This record gives sequence, structure tokens and C-alpha cells, in this order.
Amino acid sequence: MTKLARKTVQALTPYQSARRLGGSGDIWLNANESPFANEYNISCNRLNRYSTCQPEALLQAYADYAGVKQEQVLTSRGADEGIELLIRAFCQPNKDSILYCPPTYGMYGISAETFDVANKVVPLTDKWQLDLPAIEANLDNVKLVFVCSPNNPTGNLIDRQDIERLLAMTQNKALVVMDEAYIDFCPEASTVDLLADYPNLVILRTLSKAFALAGLRCGFTLASPEIIELLLKVIAPYPVPIPVADIAIQALSPAGLAKTKFQVLDLSANRAYLQAGLSMLEGVTVFDGYGNYLLVQFPDAEQLFEALWDNGIILRRSPVKNCIRISVGNRDECEKTLAFIREQILQINN
Ligand SMILES: *Cc1c(COP(=O)(O)O)cnc(C)c1O
Repeated sequence: MTKLARKTVQALTPYQSARRLGGSGDIWLNANESPFANEYNISCNRLNRYSTCQPEALLQAYADYAGVKQEQVLTSRGADEGIELLIRAFCQPNKDSILYCPPTYGMYGISAETFDVANKVVPLTDKWQLDLPAIEANLDNVKLVFVCSPNNPTGNLIDRQDIERLLAMTQNKALVVMDEAYIDFCPEASTVDLLADYPNLVILRTLSKAFALAGLRCGFTLASPEIIELLLKVIAPYPVPIPVADIAIQALSPAGLAKTKFQVLDLSANRAYLQAGLSMLEGVTVFDGYGNYLLVQFPDAEQLFEALWDNGIILRRSPVKNCIRISVGNRDECEKTLAFIREQILQINN
């Protein structure tokens, strides 16, 4: 049967999600999930009916939260589906390309490959910023430029002036897709205000990270009404299950937003704790992080990663040399992880 599949699919390596990579243990700091499991009410009395394609109350709740109009919001099965919809709506297979700047989130490239859309890869500079001249030189046939800020896995913000220059450079040629999956941890860095000035700007958001709803699968795309209309042409007829909309609306209620704000403060304190504790260790470099994770460089990251793994502390390997990505968990998880790493580093240094 494999031979019947598209050549592209036969050759495809699927995204190595934290879940797929397995592991066993008590401390899971590998998927940038929230440690908070919040309670919600769901009612099952409407499940005989199909859901609305784009539930208005949900769009309005997110529009109010993000500071845009309801017509500028699309909701989908996580931000990941937003990536797919953009590629399907804007890229002609075997002709157009997307462009992205590693080290960054892996799904842009994989989604494009799945649809026979080529990837143009322009690495970030050594300061993990946009290499604008190199991007400009590679824009032929590019329809979508993906920029992740805070960037996963490096944790840094992309310079706002550079984003504006990129938007101007691509005007009438390509869309700039700002992946703001972690923006709720640093809302002042959002580019949402630029939607008013740049019709080629698209912003991806999610409830998976700060809102502690990774298992819900609910994300948003913010853009001009014209772009939203195009994406609605290619979305599935019933993309938002009724219980998903019900829970997301509760998460975006005033009480839900207050809870998220509190949890973001709590996680930011834990991130500062981890950052300070790790920075004190000989030979360890912690990069400034603006999301709920830190990229950390160790003298021998692979050996340390495996020692942690064998002891039930599951972190994420990183494509950046000698680096491990650590999600910020609750205080107990952070303390145990820091204590184990400190122990290992002291052993190596003796
Ligand atoms: C987690 C993540 C996503 C995916 O979010 P979902 O809404 O869970 O699909 C998108 N972009 C980045 C950078 C992420 O880290």
C-alpha cells in the first residue's frame, strides 16, 4: 500500500513532537505545556447537532482579548491548523514556496512539504535575528514568510523594526506570518497593532501555552477580513467541536483571563528562578527567554539530556549546538530539575 501513497508522503519524516518521542518519568518539561490543569464546565445536550463553523461568541471573545475586530479572527484546530490553512490557501503546489528562519518551529517546513510546497530556509543571524538582506534575495515565488516571536526554541524576541522592514519589503508579494504562540507571556511585544498598517500581516495565536489548554486544540489566526475570507474557503466545514468552543469561551471570560494572567506571573517567577539557578553553574549559559521555556547551553548537552531522561526528567533536545530546551513547570518541577542538573555538573567538574 505504501507504493500507492504520494511520493512526497512516502518520503516524509513526520514532526517529532514531544509526545511522539516518548520517555517515561514524573517531570515533563519537554513540550512547553502549562503545569496548570484548570477546571471547566461542559454540557453534552447539543452534541446531536453539528457545530457552527466559526462560533461567533468565541470569535468575539478572542477579538476582544486580542484587540481586533471579530472579522479579523479565524479559529482552528490549534495554531498548527492555521499554518496549514495558510499554505493551502496561498501556495500553489510544486510552484510556490514558503520561507522560514531556523532555528525555529519545525511545523512550517513539514506542513509545506506535505502539500508539495518548497521550503526556502534563511537561517537567523548569530544574534537570532532576521537576516533581511538574505531574505530579500530569496523572495522569488515565496508566498509566506514565517517569523516566530518569541522564537521557539531560542526564546528571544524578533526585533520589531526588522519585522516592519520585512512587512514593507514583502508588500504585494508575500504574507508575513507572525507566530505569536507565546505572546501571552510578553503581550507588549505583540505585532497586533501593525495589522492596521500592513495588509500582508497574519498573526497566529493559540490557547495551548499560556492558557494551559494544549489538549483542547484551539488556535486563532488574526488578519485582514480579506485574508480570513480566503482561509474560510479551505477550512473543514465543522472545524471547532462544540465542547472546544464552550471551554475556550470560559477560558476567555473575565475570570478565565484573570486566571491566565495569574498563572503567567507564576510561571515567569519560576522561569526567573530556573534562569538564576542555572546561570550560577560553571560552563552553563542560559539565553534570555520570553516564553514559558528556556534554551540552555551545557558543556555536554547530550550526556546531560540522557542522564535526565534516565532519571525521569524529560526535556527537549535542541538543534542549537549543545543546547537543551527546558519548559518552565511548577516550582517543585523546576527545583527538582535544577537540583539534578547542579548535581550532574558538579560531578563532571570534579
Ligand atoms: C506550540 C506551538 C504552536 C502550535 O500550537 P497549537 O495551537 O497547539 O497547534 C505553534 N507555533 C509555535 C512556535 C509553538 O511553539
